[in-house]
Amino acid sequence: MASHHPDTLLRAMTTDGAVRAFAINATRLCERARKMQDSWPAATAALGRLLSASVMLAATLKEGERISLRIEGDGPVGVVYAQAYPDGRARGFLGNPQVNPPSRAGKLDVGRAVGPTGTLYVVRDLGLRDPYVGRVPLQSGEIADDLAYYFAVSEQQPSALGLGVLVQPDCRVTAAGGYFIQPLPGAPEDVVARLEENIRTAPHPSELIITLRDPAKILDVLLAGLPWQPLETLTPRYHCGCTRGKSRVALRALSADDLRAMRASEEDAEVRCDFCGRRYRFGPAELDALLAAKTRGA
Ligand SMILES: [Zn+2]
Repeated sequence: MASHHPDTLLRAMTTDGAVRAFAINATRLCERARKMQDSWPAATAALGRLLSASVMLAATLKEGERISLRIEGDGPVGVVYAQAYPDGRARGFLGNPQVNPPSRAGKLDVGRAVGPTGTLYVVRDLGLRDPYVGRVPLQSGEIADDLAYYFAVSEQQPSALGLGVLVQPDCRVTAAGGYFIQPLPGAPEDVVARLEENIRTAPHPSELIITLRDPAKILDVLLAGLPWQPLETLTPRYHCGCTRGKSRVALRALSADDLRAMRASEEDAEVRCDFCGRRYRFGPAELDALLAAKTRGA
């Protein structure tokens, strides 16, 4: 097993300014997510891929902005969701974490856990009132393909994406990450051709992550022959910003009937955060206050 390498996101650019590139090692982030979701291998790989991608895509945004990737497929895992900020924070969840269809050719069958059919939503929250929402049909459910299709079709920006997550039989994530490479509009043809050749001949993304681990080494392979420079490194990390106050807001959105049903139960109402599993309890007095506000408003 390769030596430990800390979680890192590297943002880089070819020196001619024609291509921007990102590579990430998100092993710890994905292992943390796996523990919180208590997920099984194929489901873990789906979430790990989407989380790794979300951190790279968020690095294209400005401070205060945010990106959310949501896959709604017809596979047994249901929703796969990841959300990230430009500073490397990310969180995510799975609709059904305990899913693990049989492996195919020795590989976790992420496509079958997620899809094959469904929709990928890309939501860029730019701090304006209405976030920008793009959507495309799933291509394979393997996630990297689906995101590349999104960029080609929805943003007319051909991009190369590779994502890989290595999950052990005991469910632990021991490698996760990937790359995201985008020739900018007007990139010279020979540069694009070289890039395509590099990507075509490179090892499979999960092999790149497992054997190299260091984002700079991954970009050395993919940008071979194209002089490039690192622009920024970030530390990706799992961060859930949920609070008791925010879950009260979620309760407030329920109907008066649902609130009454909760109030009638012997137990305190409990709101469980999908992302981190934290539980927030609300006693009868608080439910009464919420109900009173609701009926006043009605
Ligand atoms: Zn939370």
